[in-house]
Amino acid sequence: MTTSPRASSVAGDVPGDAAGEQDRRRALIVGVTGQDGSYLAELLLAKGYEVHGVVRSASSYNMGRIDHLYRDPHEPDVRFFLHDGDLGDSARLMTLLGRIAPHEVYNLAGQSHVAVSFERPEHTGDAAGLGAVRLLEAIRASGIECRYYQSSSSEMFGASPPPQREDTPFQPISPYAVAKLYAHWITRNYRETYGMFAVNGIAFSHESPRRHEDFVTRKVSRAVARIQAGLDDYVYLGSLDAVRDWGYAPEYVEGMWRMLQADEPGDYVLATGTRTSVREFVAAAFDHAGLDWQQHVRFDRRYLRPAEGASLIGDSSLAAERLGWQARVHGEGLARIMVDADVAALRHEGRHWIDRPDLPAWQVEAAW
Ligand code: GDP
Repeated sequence: MTTSPRASSVAGDVPGDAAGEQDRRRALIVGVTGQDGSYLAELLLAKGYEVHGVVRSASSYNMGRIDHLYRDPHEPDVRFFLHDGDLGDSARLMTLLGRIAPHEVYNLAGQSHVAVSFERPEHTGDAAGLGAVRLLEAIRASGIECRYYQSSSSEMFGASPPPQREDTPFQPISPYAVAKLYAHWITRNYRETYGMFAVNGIAFSHESPRRHEDFVTRKVSRAVARIQAGLDDYVYLGSLDAVRDWGYAPEYVEGMWRMLQADEPGDYVLATGTRTSVREFVAAAFDHAGLDWQQHVRFDRRYLRPAEGASLIGDSSLAAERLGWQARVHGEGLARIMVDADVAALRHEGRHWIDRPDLPAWQVEAAW
């Protein structure tokens, strides 16, 4: 992926413009280049926020998801700023918090692939686990009054049978899940010990056209587009029986935001509550493109997992009751959105992240 010069030069610590600056809400997103970070930045910009993203220098190759949001900080009415930093650098976090004085901080950073966490368990523990306490401690030490969102994960439930809710026991079965559990508990600990408005969103799998191709949903939607275009004949997959509770990422970032607008801080499951097997997702994706999946899917044992945990199927009735949040898109509808986006992306190579068939036009304009 190429990076435009303007996005690769990460902004210095540029404050917001003077007009209306005082009233405007400011959000700091750590992990802004990821799937969730980019959707959240769009949502908050559309709501009138000033949005500050923390970007690792090493992420400069990875700016594709936010490239369309970025403008020269010296242009008028710019509300999106990027800052160099990462969760391994507490002093930098303190500096950024002091300068930006955000009202809301979202921790969406860290590698999020379960399989990778077995290869890099220490790194995963450092970023996904200790990263949270560095950020929380920086907030506490800097004395800034802000609300904190921690992206917890359904992976923490691991071997616990479904449906999983906020009070389901955690039984993590991967280094990723163990690291996330540390971050989850330290967030609660800061809430209870220091009275911070710090919350955990226990999100089940949420996908989108911005999902990395290492994940099966995006691997499939991309393969469908390429097969339909005559570029490939087959896609090679592992277990088709595996089941997930797959939701749509833009709806999940709305849930994150709602958690920080609540009267009281609390932890919430974000899930669709529906189960979709890989086979069902694959069938829906191929069918949407007018293709018969059985002719194009081949088995490759390299994609089998050593162990699959219990099915992770969430119960988000607490979020529905207290936050009015509910997932609308699941499994097969998601497959159709992702295939449409990948088909459009192939037609307009290079405009992948800007084409948003899933968003109403006004929202895209507001995001720009
Ligand atoms: P995660 O395991 O929920 O983090 O997400 P993935 O998208 O990587 O995997 C979802 C499920 O799809 C798992 O149960 C995999 O075993 C299954 N799966 C089947 N074929 C593939 C494949 O080719 N790639 C990946 N990543 N997963 C596959």
